[in-house]
Amino acid sequence: MSVTQEVSLKSKLKEVFGFSQFRGNQEAIINNIIRGNNTFVIMPTGAGKSLCYQLPALVLDGTAIVISPLIALMKNQVDQLNAFGVNAQFLNSTLSKAEMNKVKKETISGQVKLLYVAPESLTKEETLDFLQKAKISFVAIDEAHCISEWGHDFRPEYRKIRGIIDNIGNLPIIALTATATPKVQLDIQKNLQMDDASVFKSSFNRTNLYYEVRPKHNTKKQLIQYVKKHKGKSGIVYCLSRKKVEEIAELLRVNDVKALPYHAGLDSSVRMANQDAFLNEDADVIVATIAFGMGIDKPDVRFVVHYDTPKSIEGYYQETGRGGRDGLEGNCLMFYSYDDILKLEKFNKDKPVTERDNSKLLLQEMAAYADSAVCRRKQLLHYFGEIYEKDCQFCDNCLHPKERFEAQDEVLVALQAVVSTEQRFGMDHIVDVLRGTSNQYVESYGHDQLPQYGKGAERDVQFWSSLLRQVLLSGYLEKDIDNFGVVKITAKGLNFIQNPYPIKLTKDHDFEQEVQQEEEK
Ligand code: ADP
Ligand code: ZN
Repeated sequence: MSVTQEVSLKSKLKEVFGFSQFRGNQEAIINNIIRGNNTFVIMPTGAGKSLCYQLPALVLDGTAIVISPLIALMKNQVDQLNAFGVNAQFLNSTLSKAEMNKVKKETISGQVKLLYVAPESLTKEETLDFLQKAKISFVAIDEAHCISEWGHDFRPEYRKIRGIIDNIGNLPIIALTATATPKVQLDIQKNLQMDDASVFKSSFNRTNLYYEVRPKHNTKKQLIQYVKKHKGKSGIVYCLSRKKVEEIAELLRVNDVKALPYHAGLDSSVRMANQDAFLNEDADVIVATIAFGMGIDKPDVRFVVHYDTPKSIEGYYQETGRGGRDGLEGNCLMFYSYDDILKLEKFNKDKPVTERDNSKLLLQEMAAYADSAVCRRKQLLHYFGEIYEKDCQFCDNCLHPKERFEAQDEVLVALQAVVSTEQRFGMDHIVDVLRGTSNQYVESYGHDQLPQYGKGAERDVQFWSSLLRQVLLSGYLEKDIDNFGVVKITAKGLNFIQNPYPIKLTKDHDFEQEVQQEEEK
């Protein structure tokens, strides 16, 4: 890239968007697209993904196609671009035939720089015919995690995108997402056949967010106190059901908090009005189901409360990510109870088997996160494939550490059990072997004959599960990327088996016991 081109990118940034600097990887990503390379962008929410395809679309000849899953998101971006004087349009089911034809005509004549398309519209034959006539610069796939069944927002139409692009022509692809566990990342690249893509992954560490988990106990009282502590500041309270949203919004209102409800059961005019009231600071707190938040850009949300335990760590990370987007204070409080986990499991009862198993594993990980006394940030980042070596000193577990114990012998036998079961099983099975539990699987694989069988019988299931999760977080084990739930040994783990050394682990929270002790005080 020559100096003049660099200067012209910067001046475009200023001229069109009014920003004087690129953020993070933006410039490198934009250059990569301009060079015509496939590009994979993984960036947390709020980091500035949209600009990564908007700016090259303006610089390159022809029209960029942007595939986006939500009509509201599309409209938002198109309105914004139009306000900047950019010719951006969308094609989706809200347009009349005449409007649709107008968009197509303007695209073919080369006036449209960005064309937003819903995946449903893209798969229509007539859309394909039309796109073949237009000059397309590249294809951007926003919210690319929708491709993966292992993500939290699977959209089957997303799986057809690659075939359609092939029919339009040989076009560079930029895929973007804010939620990619290593597993989902692999899925996206496989499905879009972009193994050759340059990958730009930003850290998911949100240093200004404080993470905290409390047991669900006197929850209403705790919530009121918490919200009052942040009086006059913006906050979001997430609940699982519409009914609960209404109830909690009312509870806060009678306690003099300016709170409004938001959920998909409300009339869309009420929903919009409540959202606007929150954005304009006429309301301080929005009590919402997870329907709220996608594409909402309010920089000064000071707290995010999960009144009910969330369904997955990924969802939790996304929702907490709406706090402190301006880089200032952001407090994330989650209320946890195992009852919530069981309730959520029941909701999954009628789903197809694989989906149900997947949801169950996600829930188990959520429960493990809540119970764990390990640094919250370390756990969250590990979930996204990042190793965070130190403890963060900015989460409840770091500021109120639990007692540690020497676990060299236990770690050794646990790692040996992983090796001797040939690294083909999940943690539950390893725990069964260690505790000497006899069941169909243990017997059929002959694992009751292993030297580790029953070696840890005097400890309970929670002890061993917690131990395995901690050694996973510390890099002695790793998850098998191709087999969900399976754990394998790492080089560090093998080294430990050969030359064991002292290692301190933390005892998990036992929230039920903690609540009981508190009541007795
Ligand atoms: P994401 O899609 O990653 O969640 P957005 O693209 O919506 O994030 O961007 C988040 C916010 O950051 C927007 O308000 C956007 O205008 C702003 N933004 C993006 N790039 C820059 C930049 N280089 N300088 C200043 N603000 C930026
Ligand atoms: Zn921490």
